[in-house]
Amino acid sequence: MNHHDQTAVDEAAAMHIGLIRDKTWYGQHWIRDNKRAAIYSRDGYACAYCGITSESAERQGIRMTLDHVHPRELGGTHNVGNLVTACLVCNCAKQSKGLRAFLKYLRGIGIQTAGIAKRVRRQKAKSIFVTSAKGQITKVTPTAEGEIRKRVS
Ligand SMILES: [Zn+2]
Repeated sequence: MNHHDQTAVDEAAAMHIGLIRDKTWYGQHWIRDNKRAAIYSRDGYACAYCGITSESAERQGIRMTLDHVHPRELGGTHNVGNLVTACLVCNCAKQSKGLRAFLKYLRGIGIQTAGIAKRVRRQKAKSIFVTSAKGQITKVTPTAEGEIRKRVS
């Protein structure tokens, strides 16, 4: 069992015993920092759901996170096409809802969702540019089948 598998096992166990309620802990282990940064950059450092910028969020003490649009609990992957920037408030509200269910929930509390759906779909369809510690840049393009990685420098 490699380190990655062990992390997945630990996450599953922690989730099972109810340690993970808001994905804060969960969010820290499953993705490399450079890929996380590339997704934040792709999304303009703003929550894909409410649009708050990381700067404003920080001033209010709200952490920025990555959200699995199609939740892990429902089989969603770590594919870049399934990940968007989300403030912790939105991420907690979404929990393990899929996009459609979350938008329905938001409409139920009086929030217009047409713009949100459009923004989320647009953002997660874009490629990201991941910079390695050595400065090499890899373009990662989401497709229905998975990610296509291409070294660009
Ligand atoms: Zn938000």
